[in-house]
Amino acid sequence: MNRLSISDKLALDKFEVDEGVPHININNDLCKTCVSKNCLRVCPAGLYSEQDSGIIVEWAGCLECGTCRAVCSQGALDWKYPRGGFGIIYRQG
Ligand code: SF4
Repeated sequence: MNRLSISDKLALDKFEVDEGVPHININNDLCKTCVSKNCLRVCPAGLYSEQDSGIIVEWAGCLECGTCRAVCSQGALDWKYPRGGFGIIYRQG
């Protein structure tokens, strides 16, 4: 039996995107005071990036692990689970 890689497993997941209602909001005024910017390194889905406008997160692909909220040293994230019926649907546990 072939074992699936993590990337293969993630590709099987389904996302019900709550268009226009992000469940992660970033206070970039606080991000500007952050030296470590841990969010850029810890997200297993690689959803964070730094642009001219500041830190952005492609929240629609969120795995809802909560790691970014746990490591943000500035308290810059307003993070909550998506509304019921939205977000990730895991298909491989
Ligand atoms: Fe990435 Fe997890 Fe944060 Fe979602 S909750 S943005 S997957 S670190």
